[in-house]
Amino acid sequence: MASNSRRVGLIYDDRMCKHFDPDDQYHPENPNRIRSIWKKLESSGINQRCIVMNGKEAEDKDIALVHTKAHIDLIRNISSKKIGLKRNKIAAKFNSIYFNEGSSEAAYLSAGSVIQVAEKVAEGELDSAFAVVRPPGHHAEENEPMGFCLYNNVAIATRYLLDERPDLGIKKILIVDWDVHHGNGTQKMFWDDPRILFFSVHRHDFGSFYPGGEDGSHVMTGEGPGAGYNINVPWENGRCGDADYLAVWDHVLIPVAKEFGPDIILISAGFDAAIGDPLGGCRVSPYGYSVMLHKLLEFAGGKIVMALEGGYNLESIANSVQACIEVLLQQKPIAGSSEAYPFESTWRVIQAVRDKLSAFWQPLAERLTEKTTSMTTPYIQVVSSDSEDEYDTTPHTVSQELEKDIENIIQPFSDLKVNDGQACTISHTWRAELSKIDIWYATFGSNMYQSRFLCYIAGGQVEGMQKPCIGSLDKRKPKEIIWKTFPHRLFFARERTATWGPGGVAFLHPESNSDEKAYMCLYRITLEQFNDVLLQENVSNFDMNSPLFDMTDLQSIENSKCVSAEAVKNGWYHNVLYLGKENGLPILTMTCRLSDIDNFKSGNVLTCKPSKEYANNLIRGLVEGKQLSEEEATTYIQEAASRAL
Ligand SMILES: [Zn+2]
Repeated sequence: MASNSRRVGLIYDDRMCKHFDPDDQYHPENPNRIRSIWKKLESSGINQRCIVMNGKEAEDKDIALVHTKAHIDLIRNISSKKIGLKRNKIAAKFNSIYFNEGSSEAAYLSAGSVIQVAEKVAEGELDSAFAVVRPPGHHAEENEPMGFCLYNNVAIATRYLLDERPDLGIKKILIVDWDVHHGNGTQKMFWDDPRILFFSVHRHDFGSFYPGGEDGSHVMTGEGPGAGYNINVPWENGRCGDADYLAVWDHVLIPVAKEFGPDIILISAGFDAAIGDPLGGCRVSPYGYSVMLHKLLEFAGGKIVMALEGGYNLESIANSVQACIEVLLQQKPIAGSSEAYPFESTWRVIQAVRDKLSAFWQPLAERLTEKTTSMTTPYIQVVSSDSEDEYDTTPHTVSQELEKDIENIIQPFSDLKVNDGQACTISHTWRAELSKIDIWYATFGSNMYQSRFLCYIAGGQVEGMQKPCIGSLDKRKPKEIIWKTFPHRLFFARERTATWGPGGVAFLHPESNSDEKAYMCLYRITLEQFNDVLLQENVSNFDMNSPLFDMTDLQSIENSKCVSAEAVKNGWYHNVLYLGKENGLPILTMTCRLSDIDNFKSGNVLTCKPSKEYANNLIRGLVEGKQLSEEEATTYIQEAASRAL
């Protein structure tokens, strides 16, 4: 035993590895997640400083505290031989769920293990504990498994302590959900219950990040006696890191926790906001997690129960869990530092959360000072895997590239001195200016299909797309839609894209050719919206500090015919082309550079037929726009896809 006397419980059980996707061994929620964590804890020897326990299956009566009987029957029986081949069909009825013959046992172990450590911490037998469990739980709702989650482990343990063990004196529970996704299931289960303060910080991206919609919004504060006991901090974009999370801790969570005075804290500890996570796109370091956890140790006499939720980069989750257990043992953060300031959007979100909750929590009533909120890191655009229009990279290389870019750019800013509270405040006045200018955006690819184009304005996802779009800040629909043909060559290139999967995407040859006739759908939108589309076509986020294509570009493009959006020059569609005027307004489109044509011709970048889903969207657009019949549209696309450049 080490010199400290903290009794930290640790639960791990191999049987939870029997749950996996039978059709996809690379599914992100796979057994290697907890195996890699356990391997790390063993190799570092930290497990020997903890009290290690085996998993324990939950009882139906405890699960029934938060789930319906129908839900419990489903999970109990899903792995039985009788269900057999019907299993996949049942799974398909739910959102992001798979089942196999090991699912039932793993679900019961996962829930039961969290109950077990929570009970021991509440009893005082342990000071704190970490349950290395899967499947995760926080998306699971009362009557529905969801988002890789079967039973809501943390919610079950919470109700167990309150309702089944009143003798332990636990009356108020703080749940901190720092998984990068919103804990929709937990929120709903405790919506009107003031015994539980539910706090979730997550990517929301204005409702387009999983699980999506309004549930994760900061206006969702609970109801009835539970009003004010539900706190959501919704990030507007990815790439949030230590500084952003710690700002939320200091200016929302910690002041409220002080006031609430929990008897125990349960953490829905997902590590998919960690640097390098393929789904999260945020950048919290192990050091960041250790400080977040350490700040919570001052409450409830340090009674903290952590339960694993998401986290899909094996190295990141292992390092982050190790750091957290170190904090539980040592009662201090691990060595490290994080110097960068929060994003400007982070302060905006924090202030909005405080405004919304100040009626319930007095410490939030005071406005943040300008001195505090002026300490920001400019938002830097980085090519990410959201776009159909960037070079294909695996999640791993994306994160490495992102790291490199971020380090290069953030480092200089981290040394920035803040004087008179006006260091690098970000102005969005360009949006107001460009929102008054109308242009025609001429589309030749899947954007000809209105529903698909509207994803770039309102946010959303149409059939075949692998991920939803964020949308424009200005969500007003196009003022007019017209069709025209242009003397340009339409062709398809690249082998696969992040948005559509395998298959080529459409390009317009930047040079005109009177032998060609490309059908194009023209949307009348503002220049501000055009910038948001241009950004989404090339990179994923839109917190632009300055426009990609501004008034000067607009004035010069008539003469120069094309202008490169240099800030997104790694994207495939950063070359803005001028195609003339319609009703006095300029017609703009975006495509590859002329120099890319040589790469397509030489075979350096393959020309390639579009995927079925992608082609269908083009055809739908042409038919819906009454330009061609379905047969004609199909032939038009096939012909464009098969002709040599
Ligand atoms: Zn998650």
